[in-house]
Amino acid sequence: MDAATVDTVTRQHTTTQVIVADWVVPVVGEPVRHGAVAVVGDRIVAIGDAAEVLHDAREAQGAGGEVLETERQGILTPGLVNAHSHLQYTCMAEVGQGVYEGFEDWSHAFQDLYEQPHDWAASAADGLRIAISTGTTAISDIVTDAEALRVLEDGRVHGIAYWELMSWLTDEWSARGRSETEALLEQAQSRWLGLSPHAPYSLDTDVIRDLGKLAHERGVRRHMHLAESAWEAEYTQNGTGALADQWRDWGFADFQLLRRGGSKLRPVPYAESIGALGPTSHVAHGIYTDAADREILRRTGTVVALCPRSNAVIGLDEAPVADYLREGNAIAVGTDSLSSTPSLDLSGDVAALAAIARRQGYNGDDLHRRLFAAATLGGAVAMGLDTGSHRLGALQPGALADFAVFDHEATTARDVLASLVEGGDGHVTTTIIAGDVRWEAGR
Ligand SMILES: [Zn+2]
Repeated sequence: MDAATVDTVTRQHTTTQVIVADWVVPVVGEPVRHGAVAVVGDRIVAIGDAAEVLHDAREAQGAGGEVLETERQGILTPGLVNAHSHLQYTCMAEVGQGVYEGFEDWSHAFQDLYEQPHDWAASAADGLRIAISTGTTAISDIVTDAEALRVLEDGRVHGIAYWELMSWLTDEWSARGRSETEALLEQAQSRWLGLSPHAPYSLDTDVIRDLGKLAHERGVRRHMHLAESAWEAEYTQNGTGALADQWRDWGFADFQLLRRGGSKLRPVPYAESIGALGPTSHVAHGIYTDAADREILRRTGTVVALCPRSNAVIGLDEAPVADYLREGNAIAVGTDSLSSTPSLDLSGDVAALAAIARRQGYNGDDLHRRLFAAATLGGAVAMGLDTGSHRLGALQPGALADFAVFDHEATTARDVLASLVEGGDGHVTTTIIAGDVRWEAGR
């Protein structure tokens, strides 16, 4: 190492960035008026009142270090955490602009375009750029084609790339599916990998069971679509209905559920019975759940990523958002992909959830606080990233320095949270990931 390099390394370690904003929203704690965060390297070292944070940073640096102060207009928050997306389908936005009568109808349109040739790596990278420009700093990204597997890591965005498995019959899975999956996970050499058994209806029962074992062996997390189709319950209970017919038509009549006339269980208890739920697993959608289903999700510590705008495009019902809130389920927010939603801006889904909760009669004055927490810390919990050395989702010392700045003006802490939740798409002016400015409006 030459002297110049040593100097650069030393300077990097002794430079404290202090970002001051009109409001700072820690998520764990009340919004701070004229607040600040202090950042060293990729970590938050302090958060609080701007004058105090600046004073302490200068004091701590003494004569040898440097304090770089930047002022941001608006509201500084943790970066948004998208708990369910498929970045590789960014090039399939034309499907997302259609109108559908339900999941099976949409699936046909999706499948027709999916089977055309695509540059999945480029499409995923496009999606990542769009997500960053909306304040998103961590993503639970489901990957169906290996070319898109490293998009988060190569793009230096936090989260987990969940390798998706679907359309496997048990015999074929035992013969080659498991070994191919293991080989692919080895080759990917990514730090942040997970497994996504696609859904209860698109994989044979024993394959889903074995994916649980494989995830356990490798110490990786899982993420599944659950209770998304209105016909899913009829499928898992009796092996009948429109969704079951579709999978029979597609050549999977040998799935155990279809062959044996179902499991007599609704999708959530069925998923539990084959080991697909639990604290190292989270599920997407959770639209068609009853009180007993939601109790299972709570008991097993399974977070639900709600994706309201995707559900609306596909022509599905609204998830029981008010019930999830009242009953105390752990929730997160996802956009899903552009093949089923108008934008990758998570704030649009947060606003949609608020509207649905109110329509369903939720009147709690904690609505804004809880929904903004769902879009940040909730997503971190869903991926197990709320604790440990790479924790994110809330502003606290030791957490990764991932931030979004929103252009809302607010005079009270209450207004701050209301504007973050009700404001909808298009209000992020700056995105910072691991201490680096990755996007600024107008640049
Ligand atoms: Zn999805």
